[in-house]
Amino acid sequence: MDFRAQTLNNFSLPRRLGRLSELAYNLWWTWTPDAQRLFARIDPELWEQSYHNPVQFLRQVARPHLNAVAQDRYFLELYDRTLRAFDRYMQGKSTWFLQHYADQIHHPIAYFSTEFGLHETLPIYAGGLGVLSGDHLKEASDLGLPLVAVGFLYTRGYFVQHISEDGWQEARFQRLRYEDLPVVPVLNDDGQPLTVSVALPGREVLARLWEIHVGRVPLYLLDTDVDGNTDGDRELTARLYTSDLEARISQEIILGIGGVRALRALGYNPSVWHMNEGHSAFMGLERAREIVAAGHPFEEAQEMVRAATIFTTHTPVPAGSDEFPLWLMDKYFAAFWPQLGLDREAFINIARREMSWGETFSMPLLAFRFSGRRNGVSELHGQVARKMWHFLWPERSESEVPITSITNGVHTSTWLARQLHILFRRYLGRDWLEHLDDPEMWEGVESIPDEELWAVHRHLKRKLVFYIRDRARRQWMRGGVHPVQVIASGVLLDPYALTIGFARRFATYKRASLILRDFDRLLALINQPNRPVQIIFAGKAHPDDHPGKMLIQEVYRAVKKAENGGRLVFLEDYDMNLARYLVQGVDVWLNTPRRPNEASGTSGQKAALNGVLNFSVLDGWWREGFNGQNGWAIGDDVDFDDPTVQDQRDYESLISTLENEIVPLYYHRVENGLPREWIARMKASIRTLAPQFSMRRMVKEYTERLYIPAIAEGEEPSVLAGEPG
Ligand SMILES: *Cc1c(COP(=O)(O)O)cnc(C)c1O
Repeated sequence: MDFRAQTLNNFSLPRRLGRLSELAYNLWWTWTPDAQRLFARIDPELWEQSYHNPVQFLRQVARPHLNAVAQDRYFLELYDRTLRAFDRYMQGKSTWFLQHYADQIHHPIAYFSTEFGLHETLPIYAGGLGVLSGDHLKEASDLGLPLVAVGFLYTRGYFVQHISEDGWQEARFQRLRYEDLPVVPVLNDDGQPLTVSVALPGREVLARLWEIHVGRVPLYLLDTDVDGNTDGDRELTARLYTSDLEARISQEIILGIGGVRALRALGYNPSVWHMNEGHSAFMGLERAREIVAAGHPFEEAQEMVRAATIFTTHTPVPAGSDEFPLWLMDKYFAAFWPQLGLDREAFINIARREMSWGETFSMPLLAFRFSGRRNGVSELHGQVARKMWHFLWPERSESEVPITSITNGVHTSTWLARQLHILFRRYLGRDWLEHLDDPEMWEGVESIPDEELWAVHRHLKRKLVFYIRDRARRQWMRGGVHPVQVIASGVLLDPYALTIGFARRFATYKRASLILRDFDRLLALINQPNRPVQIIFAGKAHPDDHPGKMLIQEVYRAVKKAENGGRLVFLEDYDMNLARYLVQGVDVWLNTPRRPNEASGTSGQKAALNGVLNFSVLDGWWREGFNGQNGWAIGDDVDFDDPTVQDQRDYESLISTLENEIVPLYYHRVENGLPREWIARMKASIRTLAPQFSMRRMVKEYTERLYIPAIAEGEEPSVLAGEPG
């Protein structure tokens, strides 16, 4: 059986357009507006129907459409220009990394994450962590880092969300169709799938590899749906974040241990290993095992692994960390610890932790003990992490705990509206994409005429509203929904009313229902005759998160009430596509986490660069971004001991700021119907936040502060000071 032919399409394309298949199989197109336009122009309807999936699109598009554009001068010009840009990009002759670190270009950086949010057609992410990983790869590609990434191809993806009439979330898992995805099977010399194997109790489990081209960066995805595995093992990598402990530890063994073996099988010898969150922490054990097998004692192996390893923690609450009971470790690792030259006691001690429910083997502890460089994802989260993990370095003061912070960012070209790309190119300069993290360049935003910025914003808002109405219409036509659900889906939205967006995972700490606390007061606010306000909610709860699903239900019940006049809306199935519409099209981006639980947050950064004003609790990134002029704060820069008091205070701040500042400012129109002061804030938001919270700034920081020092240390072995005891 020829696997490559089975999965790689031989699209039937006119010869003149033959290279469209190359574009389809490299995610570079997802952050390049011209490349997107290229596909869309061939057959706009099918492009939408295929959910912006060029692989599926090129397989299905009718020949007459292709023949027509192959005769179209304008199209061919765009085609040639786009491919020239693609070739230049892929050659990567003068990247930032080459300009600064040419000597290090042959030192690969391995990046491990349990989810990657790259595009809506690749449902291998659940939320913020995945989108951060995806954006990290895109930027690593832009900057020319020698990075290679490892994750999972979840064969059943993350779920499609449906909300029942009484507001209950239903999850539908669908099997991915490889032939419709930009994934390429990795084959061995015999043309068979390349596999790696890991030992699970009583058996060896195989995982094969798929490759996704993220610009210049290769991403390898593990998949246990392989001949030779039992039916149960074939499902091991089917779903994200399963709650079943055995499935979960198996997944983490496959990622951490299997992931190292995968890179070895592919011929990589990384100089740096970056664990994005602790799910991949077993990698440290596997790399130590390799060194022990080469004749070194365990302590030395651990030192060597540490020197080359970076750990980014994302979890500010102890309850959120990944912990395995010891009986499970016995079951899964009894054959492994002898290979490290350790007995059970010494092995468990590597990451032994006392939790309220018993002793565990703790994945974050394992990650800390096998990493020489560690960071949180915002300044406040860094502080919280140093406090939370202080017990690992008892001889130090809290502020000296060796966990630094690098604040998250977003990949600008992925999240910026195309119309703003055009505007920025005109007012910031043709080479603006080269200077994304340069605050001085962004000063140019002030020179954009108010009328133009406002016209683009109004266009994006109309686009959002029409998109939502169209979704509601299709839902209605498919049948099986109550009319009130169609209204709840946004058919009554007004493209000119002040529009607030609240879209995120429904975890309870995000307090989606805070704004509903006093419903009469909210109704009075949104139903003012000349100053209507509408609020769009969206978000998924993890299928096993009962409180999260209750929260969705609470919001949905408020949304269904007739008194709100259709101005409260809940959109099903929040994903990267809907996120793009929302962060580009609403006026205000609302965020109400219970501080300090939002380690960073990134959706507000996407909104900010599109001129959407943040209105958020001073937690995570916003505590660093807010300057008094570029949005609004909910509450103050203070911590509370009592969550009830915190909720009450934050609610009061939220609702009164809306009543007294935000709504009046939006409807304050002096001349030509333009809200001049609002537009001034939009410009302040873009100008001050776009450079600081760009993925460009972030990946440069990781490179300068963590990757390069780790490479240098690997070349020049030295004793590391201050390791966790
Ligand atoms: C950006 C993004 C997130 C992260 O949002 P936060 O709530 O700010 O952490 C989650 N889901 C999707 C689909 C996103 O695009």
